[in-house]
Amino acid sequence: MSDSLVEEKLSERDKKHLWHPLTQHKTNSEMLAIARAKGALLFDEEGKEYVDGIASWYTCMYGHCNPYILDRVKEQMQKLDQVVFSGFTHEPAIKLSEELIKILPKNQEKLFFSDNGSTATEIGIKMALQYHHNKGQKRNVLLAFEEGFHGDTFGAMSVSGLSVYNGPFEDFFIEVERIPVPTPENIDDILNHLKKRLQHNNIAGFIYEPLVQGAAAMKMHDADGLDRILALLQQHEVLTIADEVMTGFGKTGKYFASDYLENKPDIMCLSKALTAGLVPMGLTTCTEKVYMAFYSDDVAKGLFHGHTYTANPLACTAALAALELLQTDEIQQQIKNITLWHQQFDKKIKNHPKVASTRQTGVIYALDLDVEMERYGNLRNKLFKHFMAHGIFLRPLGHTIYILAPFITTKEQMERIYEAIENALELV
Ligand SMILES: *Cc1c(COP(=O)(O)O)cnc(C)c1O
Repeated sequence: MSDSLVEEKLSERDKKHLWHPLTQHKTNSEMLAIARAKGALLFDEEGKEYVDGIASWYTCMYGHCNPYILDRVKEQMQKLDQVVFSGFTHEPAIKLSEELIKILPKNQEKLFFSDNGSTATEIGIKMALQYHHNKGQKRNVLLAFEEGFHGDTFGAMSVSGLSVYNGPFEDFFIEVERIPVPTPENIDDILNHLKKRLQHNNIAGFIYEPLVQGAAAMKMHDADGLDRILALLQQHEVLTIADEVMTGFGKTGKYFASDYLENKPDIMCLSKALTAGLVPMGLTTCTEKVYMAFYSDDVAKGLFHGHTYTANPLACTAALAALELLQTDEIQQQIKNITLWHQQFDKKIKNHPKVASTRQTGVIYALDLDVEMERYGNLRNKLFKHFMAHGIFLRPLGHTIYILAPFITTKEQMERIYEAIENALELV
């Protein structure tokens, strides 16, 4: 290797062959190279540190390179790295199923593994469609929330309501109908609409992000309204699919957002914090009732979906270690601490003239800035640069600034985030 190549910065070498997600490379070609990470901190190739205020998309909730998780995975690596999960099984998957069932909503009985959040929802959708097919009913429509986000594969993209960039694919989508998220004002209208709609019932399933819609900029809705929607749909045998890819594993203050609801989902989708950011994995869980619709002497009634890395032993081990950490007193206490710190920060900031509104569920905190729509785009970039310059990694969405930092974030680190947000208000 020539000296000049060795010295070239990572962010320059990146440009030659790499194509990044969600990126228009012509207008946005600069990628920041992160050399290492520890706890709540990321370090770039120059050594500058950043507090990871969004836990690298809600994954690294126990901190980056968590030594407990790393040790467990290192140990597993020496024993069994990968094996086909069709016709074979292994201890990490079995143990994970046993441990996860203990904290999932009581009606969940079966776990189906895949690779990421999109595949977890894709499988949930396929389960719902085939469930009715196996029962000899023709139900070909899915119901979803406006502004929901469920991933980037075709089924997941079809049910996602944030479709600004989905234009090229829309002609190929599954048929989906949308309802707004419930508020005390619109809930009666939603229920009336659904009652009428269900008279001709070809709706197979309803997919929803319970309580907090992540990609919609942490939009939050009320548990009571959602419960009433779920109750009505369940009466009509519409399978309810809780997409807890973002909300799962303690972020809302309970293990799952569904724990706030009376009506438990028929199907649940998990990923992101499931493996604590170490390796990707997705999970779709379901009730005995759903599973039994596939259980048959007829081979064709089985769920013929599978990914090469299904239930990878290393990913299962990371998930098991993460699950243990989630249930420790330290992490549970930190969830309470962060919830409280956010409340205190909120008191201080919510009446600021540049703040239009604020909201919080557990460790998820969001504030909307009081600005005109036309300025969203530029403002977002300005805010992002401001935060990065101050060593804080936050990703404002439109006019929303939100925090979803790792559970292990210290008070001092969280205060750095709050201070950067307060300073940012001066830029608006
Ligand atoms: C991130 C996310 C997904 C997609 O997960 P990927 O792992 O990015 O494919 C699906 N649903 C929700 C609610 C998400 O937040």
